[in-house]
Amino acid sequence: MRDAEQRVVLRFFPMRDAKLFAMSRYRLQPTQVQAAALLEHCRHARFVWNLAAEQSSFWKPGRGPAPGFAEQCRQLTEARAEYAWLRAGSAIVQQQALKDFARAMAQFFARTHRKPTFRRRGQNEGFRIVAFKKEDVRRLSRNVGEVKIPKVGWVRFRWSRAVPDGAKSFRVNRDQLGRWFVAFAVAPEPIARPCSGEVVGVDRGVAVSAALSTGELLRVPTLRAVERARLLKLIRQLARARKGSKRRDDVRTAIGRLRAGETARRKDWVEKVTTSLARRFDVIGVEDLRIGNMTRSARGTIEAPGRNVRQKAGLNRSILSASWGRLVMRLEDKAPGRVIKVNPAFTSQRCSVCGVVDGKARESQAAFRCRSCGHAGNADVNAAKNIEVIAAGHAVNARGGDRKTGPGNREPQLVLRPV
Ligand SMILES: [Zn+2]
Repeated sequence: MRDAEQRVVLRFFPMRDAKLFAMSRYRLQPTQVQAAALLEHCRHARFVWNLAAEQSSFWKPGRGPAPGFAEQCRQLTEARAEYAWLRAGSAIVQQQALKDFARAMAQFFARTHRKPTFRRRGQNEGFRIVAFKKEDVRRLSRNVGEVKIPKVGWVRFRWSRAVPDGAKSFRVNRDQLGRWFVAFAVAPEPIARPCSGEVVGVDRGVAVSAALSTGELLRVPTLRAVERARLLKLIRQLARARKGSKRRDDVRTAIGRLRAGETARRKDWVEKVTTSLARRFDVIGVEDLRIGNMTRSARGTIEAPGRNVRQKAGLNRSILSASWGRLVMRLEDKAPGRVIKVNPAFTSQRCSVCGVVDGKARESQAAFRCRSCGHAGNADVNAAKNIEVIAAGHAVNARGGDRKTGPGNREPQLVLRPV
């Protein structure tokens, strides 16, 4: 019974709220001619997106990798050479549609989002423009602004608030009522590396949300006990409420509000944790989710005995994995080039002191005891320490020097060579 209830919650309120950028949206006011040109951009973006979706739907496990972003870009170039109508459109619009799709697939594999679906005409109409510069937007009067859209020209919008500084891209959308919007996305500023040479490993814990190799244990905030009790009550009411009744709508709204509060708390937590990690450490090692999801079941996640524990663990796990996916994405935004994804195989069974891999060293969810050297401690911290060591090794290879004495700068250097 409980199990079924929880599935209901997850179906009604999927976690698809991972908005990566601060968005500010304005009402776009195109002329009729401009609106037709915008719709053409939408058509191209939809066409390219659906092509990518079709390709990925052919993919079955064991059939080799589905074409990735680079391969799809190559195919797009070919398609543009072949079809005049596609060539007549904006290459930016079409390429960004591919990029959006690649991102959606990455989020799907990270288990933070559902699998991307086909886009339909009249719904999900929109496209994205990158390489947007400050000169591409201007204010005409108190309430009117203009934005330059490739192949369309200057399009007016309602200047309802200041356009944020540092916007690098924008998205144009048309809702089902035919209204046009433009939203400017501001990428978060990368946080300067501390240049301390310090590496940290972060393990997605079983007993806690995340463990650092420094020994810190982090817990993602969830609903308080009172709120959880209320949520369960509402879910029971929802199951009893007649379909299409006003009561059902009210209950769903109440559940949605509780969930939204919890989501906001989790997002806030992710922002704080990622900012802190990016500030304190030069290199941050995390487990590679694509590999992690496959090996996790074999990692020896012991279920504690007792009633309801399994169900609660299931719900907590899905919340955790959503937060974790977001945490890694935000880390990469804030510490670009400093996040190293490592294969998590054996990180929970290997002793971080003597290096012996022992499947029985993990005494419980929380305790690790090495039978070779006697090292005992928190199991998640032990795994985080192993991740730190692997990440440090990768960092050394990437830089081609020793971690302590090597150059702190990993950016490619321009080398002038006599010809
Ligand atoms: Zn040991």
